[in-house]
Amino acid sequence: MTTLAWFPTFLHNAPLMGKGLARFNAELLKECHQLRDFDDAGRKWSAKNYLGGYTSYSSLDKLHRFSSTFGELERQLNRHAKSFAKKLEMDLGRGRLAMSDCWVNIMPRQTAHGLHLHPNSVLSGTYYVRTPRGCAGLKFEDPRLSRMMAAPPKRADCRVENQRHITCPAEAGSVILFESWLRHEVAANPTDAERISISFNYAWL
Ligand code: FE
Repeated sequence: MTTLAWFPTFLHNAPLMGKGLARFNAELLKECHQLRDFDDAGRKWSAKNYLGGYTSYSSLDKLHRFSSTFGELERQLNRHAKSFAKKLEMDLGRGRLAMSDCWVNIMPRQTAHGLHLHPNSVLSGTYYVRTPRGCAGLKFEDPRLSRMMAAPPKRADCRVENQRHITCPAEAGSVILFESWLRHEVAANPTDAERISISFNYAWL
């Protein structure tokens, strides 16, 4: 008897780059705080939609075109997106994957990010700038969950590939990439320090 594992869900999780990561991250951290101070519209939007925290999602979501530091981040992330698309064996034809959106998320204590997906995109992901010890990772939901009408739950000790929810730890300097239809969330930050990340989308152009 053979058991086949079909329709797998792939995730890419890797350090952004080899050399110079600490210095580059310090520069990004500085700019994230500068953006929050500068972005009145974003702070106003966040007060209603991102309780306790700040996101530039609704106000400054093309940061890769806005600053040279974020432009450098885009160049680094392009390599990851390209290699992930290759792993997924995507046939892009004459097109290519290009970063379409890039925004900042600052989560102080108690700020959470509810379950969502990223519409109108092919690949999405997050780069971690600051991850205080004990902060939440990125929690993914089995994309087939809504179709499981009568399926029994999984054993508490089941293997990772059989779990309904899997949390990928958030680590400063690391990139997580996934296909944009995969739903995910971030639990409330239980620490006193800010959890800071940069999220992005790739479109097929
Ligand atoms: Fe997201």
